[in-house]
Amino acid sequence: MTPNAFEALPLAAPLQRVLRELNYTTPSPIQAQAIPLLLQGRDLLGCAQTGTGKTAGFALPILNALHERPKQLRPKTCRTLVLAPTRELAAQVGKSFSTYGREVKFRQTLIYGGVGQVPQVNAMRAGVDVLVATPGRLLDLIDQRHVDLSQVEFFVLDEADRMLDMGFLRDVKRIVSLLPARRQSLFFSATLAPNIVELAQS
Ligand code: AMP
Repeated sequence: MTPNAFEALPLAAPLQRVLRELNYTTPSPIQAQAIPLLLQGRDLLGCAQTGTGKTAGFALPILNALHERPKQLRPKTCRTLVLAPTRELAAQVGKSFSTYGREVKFRQTLIYGGVGQVPQVNAMRAGVDVLVATPGRLLDLIDQRHVDLSQVEFFVLDEADRMLDMGFLRDVKRIVSLLPARRQSLFFSATLAPNIVELAQS
């Protein structure tokens, strides 16, 4: 076992199995740095662009926790909330969770605007382990009492800089204010402009 291989990371057997099947042998730099910290329950502010493997960098430790600590889900809640700026990105993150988590028992769904809300409301009814959402529609469903963020254990803000560029700062701040204080927070941004750092600190 080489020291800088996935096998050397304390990820559960079903995740190791999938990584072997995908022929992922060596963690990318962001994965090598992020995964051990996240497995220890630390918060993270990561500077990483798309294509660096950041999605596996956060999905693997979260899936590891869901696998090791399965929980009865409460109606309308999620254990993990990933915020993404666009529907396309949300779908991509959801697909990554499905792929990396294909041997882990967990429930996930997507929430984004531009489509009918009924299937999204139904998908949230029994609660999910992983919710990947865009901010606007998520707040709509929260205001209608279809989604409850009080049980979030892992909060991921993906592409934080794009989120702010798209004018989502107020929405993101409101969503953060609804999260429980005790949680693990992960921020990913391609740049670390002062407004990103300020948001992360808040
Ligand atoms: P991302 O930056 O998360 O969008 O990932 C970029 C691409 O790299 C995706 O297609 C992943 O499937 C792939 N990938 C991520 N991590 C690894 C790895 N450690 N080894 C090989 N491919 C990877």
